[in-house]
Amino acid sequence: NFVSSAVIMKGTQDEKEQAALSQAEVQKQSIQEVRRSLPVFPYREDLLLAIQQHQILVIEGETGSGKTTQIPQFLMESGYNDGGMKIGCTQPRRVAAMSVAARVAQEVGVKLGNEVGYSIRFEDCTSERTVLKYMTDGMLLREFLTEPDLASYSVVIIDEAHERTLHTDILFGLIKDIARFRPDLKVLVASATLDTERFSCFFDDAPVFRIPGRRFPVDIFYTKAPEADYLEACVVSVLQIHVTQPPGDCLVFLTGQEEIETCCELLQERCRRLGSKISELLVLPIYANLPSDMQAKIFSPTPPGSRKVVVATNIAETSLTIDGIIYVIDPGFCKQKSYNARTGMESLIVTPCSRASANQRAGRAGRVAAGKCFRLYTAWAFKHEMEESTVPEIQRTNLGNVVLLLKSLGINDLIHFDFMDPPPHETLVLALEQLYALGALNHLGELTKVTNCSEEVLTIAAMLSVNNSIFYRPKDKVVHADNARQNFVVPGGDHMVLLNVYTQWLESGYSTQWCYENFIQFRSMKRARDVREQLEGLMDRIEVEVCSSGGDIVPIRKAVTAGYFYHTARLSKGGYKTVKHQQTVYVHPNSSLFEEQPRWLIYHELVFTTKEFMRQVIEIDSSWLLEVAPHYYKNKELEDSSSKKMPRKQGKAKEELG
Ligand code: ADP
Ligand code: MG
Repeated sequence: NFVSSAVIMKGTQDEKEQAALSQAEVQKQSIQEVRRSLPVFPYREDLLLAIQQHQILVIEGETGSGKTTQIPQFLMESGYNDGGMKIGCTQPRRVAAMSVAARVAQEVGVKLGNEVGYSIRFEDCTSERTVLKYMTDGMLLREFLTEPDLASYSVVIIDEAHERTLHTDILFGLIKDIARFRPDLKVLVASATLDTERFSCFFDDAPVFRIPGRRFPVDIFYTKAPEADYLEACVVSVLQIHVTQPPGDCLVFLTGQEEIETCCELLQERCRRLGSKISELLVLPIYANLPSDMQAKIFSPTPPGSRKVVVATNIAETSLTIDGIIYVIDPGFCKQKSYNARTGMESLIVTPCSRASANQRAGRAGRVAAGKCFRLYTAWAFKHEMEESTVPEIQRTNLGNVVLLLKSLGINDLIHFDFMDPPPHETLVLALEQLYALGALNHLGELTKVTNCSEEVLTIAAMLSVNNSIFYRPKDKVVHADNARQNFVVPGGDHMVLLNVYTQWLESGYSTQWCYENFIQFRSMKRARDVREQLEGLMDRIEVEVCSSGGDIVPIRKAVTAGYFYHTARLSKGGYKTVKHQQTVYVHPNSSLFEEQPRWLIYHELVFTTKEFMRQVIEIDSSWLLEVAPHYYKNKELEDSSSKKMPRKQGKAKEELG
């Protein structure tokens, strides 16, 4: 299936010899030996000296060279945490923050959460004793709320800077600012071998410290023709590698949990069918919502005679390094947030990844020895259909949250905030417009507190936050699973269904068995419960009363409308049209309202697969829009011009809802 083969990376003879070190031998090395073997190790002293001499330093190094796990330890070893000062290291991804913290705690020989800890949204694994703190970039942003000069930190490491997440980009501006009046604060900006000149330039020409990488040659293979079904192509490729290629583990890049689970199931099923005809294949998923004990499994050594295949999101691109990978399978896609400032719509869509991403992915095959990367797309597509690099998130997001956050930090002049790549002016203006329309900001810039169904809305928000992983639908029990799901349907829409699922689970005493019987994912429910508890805690802290609407579903739907009024769609021929911008959208087939097709809907999110689908929809009354967003909607826009032509499909349900 694969044709061309080009060597893109060359290794020196020395490196090749090193690669010959068998994996088993490497495993026998003690943790300290492993530490010493990392590319960053020989540069320890030089690096510490550079940090001493410069306030801001950009550090560039190949993925796996030890930036994330080693540099903070160097700093600890040379006393940067003296006097109870903290070293903070940000990660764009939760999983990475948790995983590296666990690894470093192990290397340092302390219990995770003591001297070395992590902090991610809804989970704080640190204590009074913590001096090295890994955290998501979003969490460090929040710390600015309580400690605007980050006074308790001696060093802040903005890691994975090349990812250019929204939070990282905002941190850049804030940290550059505080560094001016905190000369004792050290700032390290660490990145894979990408964009370092730009970082240096942004931070007033800060020096760049380069850690020479260790790379072995990677042969790249392309498909002759585009793949119609890249998931299936992945499965076939893994099995082909397993049967025909010498030992070495395999890494597959997919876009999200659903795909990864399907891929793992397919692989396991086919291996079962092949039975003893093939050697053992260990199939391990890794994605953001995977429980941490499962996450840890990807790092355990592969038993001799078997092969490990890790099926990952782009978390394995640069954030996590899995040793022993020789083969990479890259379908060339990733899930990306995209935002259309004109329509005001934000959606998560599967898009071709950038060439820079594809090259990072390929690089993962060449860390321990010469490797191979199988690209499930054509060489032509690589050259002509992929973007050079990924557009920074700030350019493709709804800035509402950013504006709220910056305002709460007392930054009012958003237009002149020091962004590395300023967001489009119209996106900023739109965000402000929406926040005022929402009533999220009063004239003092304070959050408003009006709700009389916070109990239910809390649950709904928590359930929405676990993002489409509530219902379990195994391939071999599709009919049962769909029936079970149907049993949860209640009038009003998907938000109400989620509320119903949660309420029933609560009544079951948060039972695992109940989840199992009803094809509900226990893990997701547990997570929703955690999120809910945290949100409730936050409400308590800001003194918002938690009260129930007592079974009345109108206030709940109105509350959703108040928050999402700009996500309104109206039934029109063959589908729906968004009210403000007349974009054609469809109800997702999984929705409880798929058949019913109510006249007016609010959707939670848009996903583009075969068409633009609305996921998680709730039925509303168009008059509510005038009630909750009179500044946004005009009476005329909400007139039901189509009412005469459209048959009333669900008069009964409508009456019930009042
Ligand atoms: P970089 O940040 O430069 O990409 P890291 O510091 O993340 O590099 O990785 C250095 C080494 O630590 C790699 O060999 C990697 O495999 C190992 N490592 C990182 N996290 C873990 C973990 N959770 N378990 C085992 N090994 C790990
Ligand atoms: Mg790293």
